[in-house]
Amino acid sequence: MAKWSLEWENLVRSGRCPNGDRSFKFSEKIKFIEGAGSQVKLTRLEAVNYSSAARFLNDYTGHLLGGPFAPKVTVFRDDSCFTCDKCHGMWPVFKGTDQIEILGLANTRRTADWVGDDDYVQDNRSSGIPMSTAIKISRRWLQRLEVQWGATKTTSTAGKFSFSGAGIEQKVEQSLKTSLSMSEESERLLKQTVDVMVPPRRLLTVRLHWKQIWQEGDLRCRLPDGTLAEIPYRAAIEMRFDQENIEG
Ligand SMILES: [Zn+2]
Repeated sequence: MAKWSLEWENLVRSGRCPNGDRSFKFSEKIKFIEGAGSQVKLTRLEAVNYSSAARFLNDYTGHLLGGPFAPKVTVFRDDSCFTCDKCHGMWPVFKGTDQIEILGLANTRRTADWVGDDDYVQDNRSSGIPMSTAIKISRRWLQRLEVQWGATKTTSTAGKFSFSGAGIEQKVEQSLKTSLSMSEESERLLKQTVDVMVPPRRLLTVRLHWKQIWQEGDLRCRLPDGTLAEIPYRAAIEMRFDQENIEG
């Protein structure tokens, strides 16, 4: 017999996440994540009762279109979990001893870091008429997630909980990437055209002040020993620039 978590049993019964959010058809608010652990064998009754939770999840459409009810959840693994896009929570499908419960994101904010300037010089000194020109700019940057494990705040005063092992680091990072709609760390190339008008007899320096935009906050979770933890994180999500035109 599988040991379903209370959260999963409640989802199957009510169609709601533990924070009360409901997944409506087509909205895909609540998602099943299969995981990579060992497969959990279900009894026939369990397969019928619990796979049917899929109708609250990713694949309601096949059902609506009149086809046979074919839930997407056909494989359960011991580390399967589900997420809610509305409250950013993440919960295990099965009870376990080494499970971490993700409660959501707090103190979310956007910040910007100055990461350098680029100059593009346009020379119109030898001409008596204005020069319209399009500057092609490009900049490489790395989309990435940084988790500040060392700055974690916990309610426990009894020693520090170790995040290594038990797959906790991996689970926290997976949860954050899901919440932030990030894939794996990847190099990005920003390409754009900047149109400028250079006055006659002038040298124009177009200076771009580059800013790395971060999405920051704290991930709140409950550790296997019951400790509540707030883990600071930040994710590089965008590169932007402020433009300054300097006439010489
Ligand atoms: Zn929710």
